[in-house]
Amino acid sequence: MGTAWKTTVLSLWLVCILSKCSAEVRGYKYLSYSEIQESLQNAAKRYPRLVKLDSAQEVFDLPSVGKCANKQGLQEDCKIWIVEITNWDTRLKDSGRPHMLVSGEVHGDEVIGPQVAVEFMDLLLSNYGKDEKITSLVDTRVITIVPTTNAYGYETQTRGERQSDGEQELDPNRDFAFDQDPDLCMRTVAGRTINELFLAHFYRILITFHGGANVIGYEWGDTAHCRSRRCTLAPDNLAMVKLANRMRDYAGKAGDYESEYKVGDMGSTVYPVNGGMEDWGYGASWNDRIKCSPRTLGGYDLERTDYSDGSHRCLSYLVETGMEKRPDEQKLGTNEEPLVTGGRGDGHVPRNLRLLIAAADALEPYVALNNVTVDSDSLSCTWYVGGAFTVPKTRIEATYPGEKYKFTSHMEAGNGSFPYAGKMHMFSRSIKVRTSGSVYLRAVSIDTDSDLGKNSTSGEPQSHFVRSRSDPDWSYEINFSRVQGSSVFQSKTIHVSLDTGEKLDDDGAGIDWDELETQDGDALDEPQDDDYDYVGEDDDKKPPPEGSEEENETDQDDSSSDGRPSWIRYAVPAGASAGGLLLLALVVQAVRSRRYSTLQDNEYYDGDSEDLEDDEMPLRRYP
Ligand SMILES: [Zn+2]
Repeated sequence: MGTAWKTTVLSLWLVCILSKCSAEVRGYKYLSYSEIQESLQNAAKRYPRLVKLDSAQEVFDLPSVGKCANKQGLQEDCKIWIVEITNWDTRLKDSGRPHMLVSGEVHGDEVIGPQVAVEFMDLLLSNYGKDEKITSLVDTRVITIVPTTNAYGYETQTRGERQSDGEQELDPNRDFAFDQDPDLCMRTVAGRTINELFLAHFYRILITFHGGANVIGYEWGDTAHCRSRRCTLAPDNLAMVKLANRMRDYAGKAGDYESEYKVGDMGSTVYPVNGGMEDWGYGASWNDRIKCSPRTLGGYDLERTDYSDGSHRCLSYLVETGMEKRPDEQKLGTNEEPLVTGGRGDGHVPRNLRLLIAAADALEPYVALNNVTVDSDSLSCTWYVGGAFTVPKTRIEATYPGEKYKFTSHMEAGNGSFPYAGKMHMFSRSIKVRTSGSVYLRAVSIDTDSDLGKNSTSGEPQSHFVRSRSDPDWSYEINFSRVQGSSVFQSKTIHVSLDTGEKLDDDGAGIDWDELETQDGDALDEPQDDDYDYVGEDDDKKPPPEGSEEENETDQDDSSSDGRPSWIRYAVPAGASAGGLLLLALVVQAVRSRRYSTLQDNEYYDGDSEDLEDDEMPLRRYP
C-alpha cells in the first residue's frame, strides 16, 4: 500500500508540475439546448451583478417556434436566450459604455458557435475579479450573447427555422431588412430577435458564427454591392480589415484541426446573399432602407423595421468557424490555455474565444498608465493605449493638488497595444516634478486611430466604431446608452506621493482636467521625434530645424516598440518655489505623414484579384 501511495503522490505531483497546477483540465463538449439553458440560468444565479438573462419571448414578446427538451427531457417551447454581461452596478452611471453582440448560430447545424458563446460567457464571469484585463473588459463594455439564435434549429440540428410541421425551412440569414424583398424579411423569430436587439442597442461590433468555411468576413456581402464576387469597398473598410486581421492573428489555428482564418469581404470570401444579417447590421439605417411586411408568425409591425439613423452602424463580422460544421468533439479543445495562440489544448473553442476577446478589446480605445517611479526631482511613467491600432499623439498630464494648471509632456506617437497577445507598444516619459508633496497624473491619447476616419474612395466612414473614436460631433442616444464621439481618451487619474513614491488612495475624482489651464504651449500638440534628449534651456541640444538631413535620419518606424531606450525630456518643469512654471522644451515638428492604402493591411483581399475563379471557391458546402 505504501508504494502505491507514493507512486500516486509522485504522479500527481508530476501532473501538477506539468500543468502548473492549474485548475482541472476540462475538454470542451457539445452542449444540448437544455444544457445551454441550464448554464445560462446558473450563471445568472451565481453572478447576478454581472449577468442579465432574458429570453426573446419574454423581453420582446416574440412567439416561440418549436419544442425543445428541457433538463428533465420534457418538451417545452424553445426559447431564444439572451445574456447581457457587464458590471451592472455601474452600468447606468456609464451611458457611454460600448456594446457588442455575439450570435452563436443562426443555422442550427453549424454548432461550434454556441459552444464558443457559452464558454465566452464563462470565461468573462469566472475571471472577473481575478484577471485584471478581463475584469476591466467587463467593467467597461456591454456584451450581449445569444448562444442559440435559431434555438429550434439547434435543438433539431437543422439549418433553417421550420415554423410548423411540413412547412419549408426558412433561412434566418436571408431574413434581414437589407437587399431583400419586403415580403421575404423578418419572417423568422431568429431574425426578429436580432432585429429587436438592434432596436434596443447601438452595437459597435457584431460577431455572428457559422460553419462550413474558414473565414472572417466583413461588408459588403450583398448582391447590390457585389458583382461576381467582387464587392465595392465599404466606407469603413480600413477599420473592418484592421480588426479582422487582429482577430485572425490572435485566433490563430484551431490546434491541428483548422488553419488560420482567411479574411476578406463576404462577397468574395463566401458569396453574396440577399438579406444577410451582416450587411444589414452595418448598413440598414443609412444605406438600404426596407420595411419588412412578412406574413409568417402572425405578421410583424412595419415600424419594427423603420430604423432611426443611428441603429445600424455596426462593424458586422461573419465568422465561418471551419470547414466542418460539426467536427469531432475532441477538436473543440480544452480550457488549458484558451487565451494563448497555439497554446496547450488548442482547438475550435479556444481560438474563437480569442477572436471574441480581440473584438471586445477593440470596442473602444483605452489608456493605461502602468508604471510610475519617482526619483528625487523627476518622475518616470510608462503607459500604453489599448483597443486601438494607431496612436498619433499621446502624452502625460500632471497637476498638483489645488493647482489651476495642468502640465503636459511632449507628445509621443506609435501603435496601439493588444495586451492579450503580448503586443505592446509602451510609451515612456520622464518629467521633472517638485521634490515633495504629491502629484496627480494621467496619460492621454489624442486623435487615436484617426487614420480610420480618413478613408479613401468609398466615402466617409459610417460606423459607430470609427466615428466614436474620431468625430467629436458624432452623437446618438437610446435606452440610457450613448455613442458620443471623442478624439481624446485618457487613463484613470492616479495620485502619487513625491516624498515616498507611493500611489495614494485618492483617485483624483475631484479634478476636472478639462477645466485646468494647460501650461505647455501649442507646440506640444505635435508628436516629437524620439531620438532627442531635449533638456530645455540647453541650447545645443535643440533638435535640428525641420526638414534638415539630420531630422530625416532620425525619423523611425513607430512599429519597433521593443527595446527602445528610455529618454528624458523635462516637459513638466515646476519651479519648486512659488509654483512658478517654466515652459521648456518647445519643439515643433511636422507630423510624420502616414498613408494607408485601404488594402495594405489585408493580404487576403481577393476583391481585386483575377485569380479566384468561381470553381476555386474555398467553399463546397452551404455555410
Ligand atoms: Zn451558416
